[in-house]
Amino acid sequence: MHGFADKLGTLMRNVATTFGRSLTLLLVVFLASPLRSEEPVTAKVKPGQVIRWTGSSLLSCSLGDESWDPVDEACWYPLDLDVTGDLELVRRSTGGVASRRVQVVDYPYPEQRLQVEEKYVSPPADQLDRIAKERAKVDALFEQRTPRRFTLPLASPLAKLPAGGRFGSRRVFNGVPKSPHSGADFSAATGTTVFAVADGTVALAEDQYYAGKSVFVDHGGGLVSMSFHLSQMLVDEGATVKRGDPIGKVGATGRVTGPHLHFGLRWLGARVDPELLIAQSKPQDIR
Ligand SMILES: [Zn+2]
Repeated sequence: MHGFADKLGTLMRNVATTFGRSLTLLLVVFLASPLRSEEPVTAKVKPGQVIRWTGSSLLSCSLGDESWDPVDEACWYPLDLDVTGDLELVRRSTGGVASRRVQVVDYPYPEQRLQVEEKYVSPPADQLDRIAKERAKVDALFEQRTPRRFTLPLASPLAKLPAGGRFGSRRVFNGVPKSPHSGADFSAATGTTVFAVADGTVALAEDQYYAGKSVFVDHGGGLVSMSFHLSQMLVDEGATVKRGDPIGKVGATGRVTGPHLHFGLRWLGARVDPELLIAQSKPQDIR
C-alpha cells in the first residue's frame, strides 16, 4: 500500500509538471504568435491622422515596438505622414488584449507652390552645419518620453484660430519640391500672442534657420508642440508652462512668405495634423 501511494504521488507530480510545462509552452506559443493577423480591416485611414479607440479599464496602447498610456478611456494612435500599408493597433485592458487592423490609404495631399527668398531653397554653404545641428537637436527632442502632462482636446495656440492649416501639403518652393508641410499655418498679424496648448516644459527656444524664432514645448507622453516664425519668444528653454500661458508673438522669421503662425505637433514621433487635436478635437474613431 505504501509503495502504491508513493507511485501515485510521483505520477501525480509528473502529471502536474507535464501539465504545467504544456501550459507554459501553450502560453509562450500564444504570446509569440501574431495577434489575430488574419483579421479584417476595421477602417481606412489617411497618413497624418489620429485614431481614437475608446474602451474601459484600458492599461496600455501599442503599435509596433512602442507602448503608451491611454488618455481619457481611449487609446490614441498618431499616424505619421509617411506611414503606409496595414497597421495592427493593439491595446491591453483588464479584460485582455485586443487588436484592430487599419489600412493606410494612399492619400495625395494637395500641392502648394510658394515663393520664398532663394537662401531658403538653396541655403549658403556656411549655413549647412547650423542647419544640420538644428535638425539633430530637434530629432533628439522627438525621441523623449516623459510622463504625460497634457489633456485632450488641446487649447488653441491663438485666441481666435482662423481656418486653413494646409497640413500635409506637398510643397514646392520656387519650383523645387521640398518635404511635405508637417504642421498647420494660421494667418495672424505680427505681434499676435501665441499660447501654450497644454502644460509642459520649454524644450527648445531659439532662432533656427528655417523655423525662425521657435518654441518647442514637451507636454510629456511623447507630445511636442512647435510654434514657428515668431517675432518674439516669451519663454526660455527649461521653463515650465501652463496651458494658456503666452509663449511668443506671431512673426515672419525664417522661411516664410509673410507673417503667420506655423503650429506643429509631434506625437510619439509622428507628424500629425494639429487641427485634429485642438479645441473641437476630430480624431478618427474606430470600434
Ligand atoms: Zn507652416
